[in-house]
Amino acid sequence: MGDSYITLVPERAGIDPAEQAAMEKRMVGWMQENGWIERGKSDCVFTEGGGCRFTPSGSLHMAGGTDRGLSTYGFGVQKHDGKGVFTNLKGGLESAHCPACGKDVERYFYDMVSDWYEADGFPPVKCPLCGAASDIRNYRLDPLWGFSRIGFEFWNMGPLTPEFVEEFTAMPGEPVRVVRAHI
Ligand SMILES: [Zn+2]
Repeated sequence: MGDSYITLVPERAGIDPAEQAAMEKRMVGWMQENGWIERGKSDCVFTEGGGCRFTPSGSLHMAGGTDRGLSTYGFGVQKHDGKGVFTNLKGGLESAHCPACGKDVERYFYDMVSDWYEADGFPPVKCPLCGAASDIRNYRLDPLWGFSRIGFEFWNMGPLTPEFVEEFTAMPGEPVRVVRAHI
């Protein structure tokens, strides 16, 4: 079985570096003060720069589970300078429905994302079937992806409880997407 992680991705696509840094500090501090992650960074995640290992009380609080003794088992913050796309990785998309015409454009979606990624700013993305341009975040994706410059990664943690996601969301004070990925 490979590793998997859940990323909580803010809904906003553009979050500048100063705000990213402040958000990272606030969220890591909050998790540490609650005793859900260790104080020091270690090699417990595949996130660049390392992360903080979950504590037993953190496992229980966030996912109602217990530490299975995995070496990769922690919290990391993924930041992007330009645009960030958080995908489900292994397995890819099942479907991508256009918010305007409702048709499945999954087979075009990787190219659409790559055009969006290369473009300046955060332009709306044209549906190849109906021509309507929509915000990339409004395409209905299964599994869900996130589009933001920052994401909070939970490595090899079982499904996060809805209560914890709600609690987490209250901290940045904005909606987050729950993106599941397997590598
Ligand atoms: Zn369409």
